[in-house]
Amino acid sequence: MQRDYPLERVRNIGIIAHIDAGKTTTSERVLFYTGVSHKIGEVHEGTAIMDWMEQEQERGITITSAATTAFWTPTYADHSNTEAKHRFNIIDTPGHVDFTVEVERSLKVLDGGVVVFDGVAGVEPQSETVWRQADKYHVPRICFINKLDRTGASFEHSYKTILDRLTKSAVRFQIPIGEEEKHEGVIDLLRMKAYYFEGDMGSKVVEKEIPEYLKADAEKFHAELIEKIVENDEQAMNDFLEGKEIPLEQLKAITRKAVIGNTLVPVFTGSALKNKGVQLVLDAVVDYLPSPLDIPPVKGVDPKTGEEIVRHASDDEPFTALAFKLQTDPFVGQLTYFRVYSGTLEAGSYVYNARTGDRERIGRILRMHANEREEVKKVYAGEIAAAIGLKNTVTSDTLCDDEHPITLEAIDFPEPVVSLKIEPKTKADQEKMGMALNRLSAEDPTFKVTSDPETSETVIWGMGELHLEVLVDRMKREFGVGANVGKPQVAYRETITNEASAETKYVKQTGGRGQYGHVKIRVKPMDKNVDVEDLPKSVKRSEGFEFVNSIKGGAIPQEYIPAVEKGIKEAMAKGVVAGFPMVDISADLYDGSFHEVDSSEIAFKIAASMSFQDAAKKARAVLLEPVMKVEVVTPEQFMGDVTGNLSSRRGQVEGMEERGMSKAIKATVPLSEMFGYITTLRSMTEGRASFTMEFSHYAIVPQNVAETIIASRK
Ligand code: GDP
Repeated sequence: MQRDYPLERVRNIGIIAHIDAGKTTTSERVLFYTGVSHKIGEVHEGTAIMDWMEQEQERGITITSAATTAFWTPTYADHSNTEAKHRFNIIDTPGHVDFTVEVERSLKVLDGGVVVFDGVAGVEPQSETVWRQADKYHVPRICFINKLDRTGASFEHSYKTILDRLTKSAVRFQIPIGEEEKHEGVIDLLRMKAYYFEGDMGSKVVEKEIPEYLKADAEKFHAELIEKIVENDEQAMNDFLEGKEIPLEQLKAITRKAVIGNTLVPVFTGSALKNKGVQLVLDAVVDYLPSPLDIPPVKGVDPKTGEEIVRHASDDEPFTALAFKLQTDPFVGQLTYFRVYSGTLEAGSYVYNARTGDRERIGRILRMHANEREEVKKVYAGEIAAAIGLKNTVTSDTLCDDEHPITLEAIDFPEPVVSLKIEPKTKADQEKMGMALNRLSAEDPTFKVTSDPETSETVIWGMGELHLEVLVDRMKREFGVGANVGKPQVAYRETITNEASAETKYVKQTGGRGQYGHVKIRVKPMDKNVDVEDLPKSVKRSEGFEFVNSIKGGAIPQEYIPAVEKGIKEAMAKGVVAGFPMVDISADLYDGSFHEVDSSEIAFKIAASMSFQDAAKKARAVLLEPVMKVEVVTPEQFMGDVTGNLSSRRGQVEGMEERGMSKAIKATVPLSEMFGYITTLRSMTEGRASFTMEFSHYAIVPQNVAETIIASRK
């Protein structure tokens, strides 16, 4: 069987944007123009196609990253030539900062991005966050300044914010014909033509001469553009300096190479809502964004030897794929989206999961279009598809050929920082809830489920209030679980700040066989945070624990050592300050004794647990709290109020900068002080300020605050 599409005509792209910039509207237009969707719906009516889940429509935000396949023949191409047709796999990326992990995971599997900006606001805080994430994965990008029809829209302003805040490699490939209510079309500065969008949903692209009043501007920016392009190619640069004209096709080829090499970022413009400009962006995706052949081969390691392995985007290499998204589909059940890096996969065959070491059967393979599912027999290198039938595969697992195993570099998932208690309403709900939570946590590695060791209540953990709210919502709707939900809680931790030791003898003589366990334990902070005064901000505090056994001369027989370690771990899970899990501790079992008859594992476990608690208390145990990086963008007149309020929340303002007409305040603030912040911020600024936050680090809770927390836990 032959592949139906040559790889050079495949584009795996994401549409990336700050929430509200118009990603949904743009995606919709893309699906409309690519002919997949024949009916168009406006976002405010809640009928957007890319928004899979009801609640997304209600919230107007896009949370999941489903992959959608569409086809595009560039507007300038000969449409009777089937070889001009390209396949796009569009990977949806969320815009809200509570879902940055979703963004990262999409960035990992896509080859190029279209970054959408609001033509009034220009670059917004979250656009910067996402841009930096895309930098991390070296994703080639083109920009689309959207909403040029809106009152207050300015291409110049928005373009400048891209240059100032994101990249000096940006260059305008277009300028608008009119702005705000006068926005009519765009000028292509490479072709030096004007484009208008007529007919149903602007689907007819009409080329005209540049209007007289814009000719001088167009000439000026055309010259600027040519210069920017030839800078990327020595020969072309020389020709240019000698005054030779460089053919369009050559300029496009140089641009393509430069965009893929991340040295050039073309900027386009228009209005998705008013159907202007989107088709030309699709042309640019074909022209400038990479096919799977253009990106570096993927790297991984041999799960057995740890040796590095490289796989190229070729059907002839062993099968290698990354499961990047699990989604529950109302019609076919669980779907596992995967990106094939090399080799091919047939429906009905087996794959090897490098993490679990199990072989799993792939039932059917689907390609998802916006409103239909296409069943495919086989998928090829470079493609994205969804599998039905994988039971034990979770997000970010590598799927491969069992004769050629490989583990691809895993996605780095941050630790969850917010938790809440959740309780099933009825006995029937209890069972359903367990299943639903399992499913959701397999889909989303930043969503965790634990049970409180004391009360055995179920606790769920996530990246933020909204993250948990959305998951609880999904649990209720998709799985029909009735549940009562507690208030969001901060994921506090505990650690020690000093070295200390303790000795515990656990002895019981009650007739018959007694109990005897005797240990001496020394605890100290783990190396990375010995210097407590100067807690390194980059340290990701999590499960850090080290057990050292320096017992000499068999003072405690080997068979009891694991019980000692277990006792320490149990004590750590319970904490010694206010019942939060302890992290980053090294515990050394350095002495003790045993009794021939009375000693048992349980006696040593209890002794170790008690001894550890004793030592940890002496070692000045403290509470740790997650601290968030917060950025508030506000009109200047509210700056005093905003910073004052941040300080009252124990925030530290770390910097301030101009943001167009506004000020951006950067601060670090403990998460516990940020619940409900949005409401305060809105009322303080007449609704004109916005903010974003992400996890930064764990820090010691100040004494007075710690006392309140401890009291509330009693
Ligand atoms: P998303 O949050 O990035 O997915 O943004 P949406 O596509 O949901 O758009 C947010 C809001 O902006 C919606 O009310 C859209 O109708 C509106 N919008 C999107 N694109 C445009 C545009 O080009 N012009 C104008 N005036 N509004 C737009």
